[in-house]
Amino acid sequence: MEAVHIRIHGIVQGVGFRPFVHRLVREHDLAGSIRNTSSGVELELEGERRALEAFVQALPKRAPKLALIEQIETEWGLPPRGRKDFQILQSHAEEKRNTLVSPDIGICEDCRRELLDPKDRRYRYPFINCTNCGPRFTIIKDLPYDRALTSMGRFPMCPDCEREYHDIENRRYHAQPDACPVCGPKVSFLDGEGREVPGDPIETARAWLKSGKILAVKGLGGVHLACLADREDLVRELRRRKERDEKPFALMCRDVQAAEQLCFVSEKERELLESFHKPIVLLRRRDRGPSPLTENGWLGVMLPYTPLHVLLFGEDLDALVMTSANLSDTPIVYRNAEALERLQGIADGFLLHDRDIQTRCDDSLCWEREGKEYFVRRSRGYVPFPVRVSGSRGGILACGAEQKASFCLSRGEYLFPSQHIGDLKNAETLEHYEQQIAHFERLFDTKPRLLVCDKHPDYLSTAYAQKRGEEEGIPVLPVQHHHAHMASCMADNGLTGPCIGLIWDGVGYGEDGGAWGGECLIGDYRSFRRFGSLRPIPLIGGDRAVKEISRVGFALLHDAGCDTRGIPNASFFETMLQKGLNCPLSSGMGRLFDGAAAILGIRETVSYEGQGAVLLEAAAEADEGSYPVALSGSPLLFDWREMVRAMVRDRDAGLPTGRIAARFLNTLVQMAVETALAAARETGLRDVVLSGGSFQNQYILDRLPIALEQAGLRPWTHHRVSCNDEGLSLGQLMIGEYHFEN
Ligand code: ZN
Ligand code: ZN
Ligand code: FE
Repeated sequence: MEAVHIRIHGIVQGVGFRPFVHRLVREHDLAGSIRNTSSGVELELEGERRALEAFVQALPKRAPKLALIEQIETEWGLPPRGRKDFQILQSHAEEKRNTLVSPDIGICEDCRRELLDPKDRRYRYPFINCTNCGPRFTIIKDLPYDRALTSMGRFPMCPDCEREYHDIENRRYHAQPDACPVCGPKVSFLDGEGREVPGDPIETARAWLKSGKILAVKGLGGVHLACLADREDLVRELRRRKERDEKPFALMCRDVQAAEQLCFVSEKERELLESFHKPIVLLRRRDRGPSPLTENGWLGVMLPYTPLHVLLFGEDLDALVMTSANLSDTPIVYRNAEALERLQGIADGFLLHDRDIQTRCDDSLCWEREGKEYFVRRSRGYVPFPVRVSGSRGGILACGAEQKASFCLSRGEYLFPSQHIGDLKNAETLEHYEQQIAHFERLFDTKPRLLVCDKHPDYLSTAYAQKRGEEEGIPVLPVQHHHAHMASCMADNGLTGPCIGLIWDGVGYGEDGGAWGGECLIGDYRSFRRFGSLRPIPLIGGDRAVKEISRVGFALLHDAGCDTRGIPNASFFETMLQKGLNCPLSSGMGRLFDGAAAILGIRETVSYEGQGAVLLEAAAEADEGSYPVALSGSPLLFDWREMVRAMVRDRDAGLPTGRIAARFLNTLVQMAVETALAAARETGLRDVVLSGGSFQNQYILDRLPIALEQAGLRPWTHHRVSCNDEGLSLGQLMIGEYHFEN
């Protein structure tokens, strides 16, 4: 007989870990105790050596699926104390504070079974949950994670629920949000005027949906607008009411089979759809024809992730549009009163409930790549999972960018990227941003010692950092935009050494004050240099050219010496260019995409950031050809003029737009490889990180990493945070971390 001391680090609280350990202890005929600590749990066990070893082996293999074990430390050969039972010890109050918080978890199979079992006491109860599933992050007001400090505080448990809660054999042992029809939250259905409609709320909602109504449906992190997805008239009407002209709508499908009716679903995509994170997964559409749901080749699909959604679909609904309830760029609506007021005239009816959402959290949106998430938006179901970076000392707040704002707060080795926040230029979004920073600091009990922000002087996140730094006497470190993107992808992949970064996006504030975005950087967390870039593109009329992409197309043609006669406003644009009147230069890859889209006649104006690139990708047809890649100078500039001339020749020769689009994209892949190779030759480096919003382009992403590998380089892409500006705060934080060393 001997004793062992085991420390388990990671997310092992509030995920059914202690009951699991309890069962495992009994199985191996051991005795001892378990206690929650600041970084996980601590076990003291005694028994036969072989049984103890078997226990330690089984621990990570059989742990609950929500547990995230990061490290197991064992101290063997301690003297046994002759214990016979297994005890769960109270944790100290201050240690309770330091726990990691679980994200919201989609409904589990056990709960789904009970939900649909007429003999179960929670039959058709829309708030059924357990230690393996249910709301977490969105209902927590403060830590420790106890019912009283969540939205469930106002629902005292009935004796039946109480018994389950205290029974370690029960799968609802210590499930804080647990409830039943007797004691828990209730759902209600209201008409367009906010009057309660008598009858079963869920059945009423189903009937209204089937009859072609647009409903507001309260989910986990906010309210959705829902309607039948196969009714084009309704989808158009929803677009009109929501003032969302062209951005794609997400769908919720009853199950994978229903999703397969509309999209191709690979085995890995299926796993991601069904994972407990329940993200919106971008899937390839079967029908590539025009659709009011989306203008590109992808459909964002998620599965029902709350019991309420499961009941709403029933047996006979296949696919509903489920789009965030918000009006043009304001944050998602999440409170009942707010929903009734703001969505008046937008929603015909409201399916609401009285469990408050504490924290707004939009649905996560991603592609599946190599079995992992490739995020556009990392939010519900993932936040606040941390990124662990060993050796980090914590105490840093990175304030992110602006249009796709996020922040990242570190506490010790844990870096907590925030949920999707939105565009800070909207006053309400800015308020949400500031509130969430305060919320994270309280949850993770951290006051920053360093603030990191973008170098852009006009970003509202920069203004936030500077104001706060001044008021609270905290140093502020401004970081160059693309350096932060690069550091983000390095941290995402656990890279520490110097590497090459291909950083492509729409725009970021350059070291020289210019607009950068088609960059090849060489560096690490400490510093970087600009190895390569694009020949700058003049933006006729400045920001106007970002919307009116025909202006970018004109500038490209003009600069390349192509015929521009016959283009509207040609002489006016030409004068502006020649005199350099309000024509700031940009090396943004997004602009090159926009200009190409305009030259190919795909669009003249865009209504959202990145639309030019999205439509180019959607248009691309199979074609392996490419255009000349002209690279020269230091920094090594990609002179796109030859490419533009070749595109125009192809266009004028009548080559289909889709094939020219493909050749254009192939040229960028080739340019990226040649640039990275030049950087590798000069430095001896092989690691190439790909970051920036342009890497949401799946056409490029399907080809560039392979091409880099074939060239003998080691490509790295994002998988834990987004490649776009939302993922930037992670990189800012890492740069801040290294800054402390000096
Ligand atoms: Zn469950
Ligand atoms: Zn109950
Ligand atoms: Fe960016």
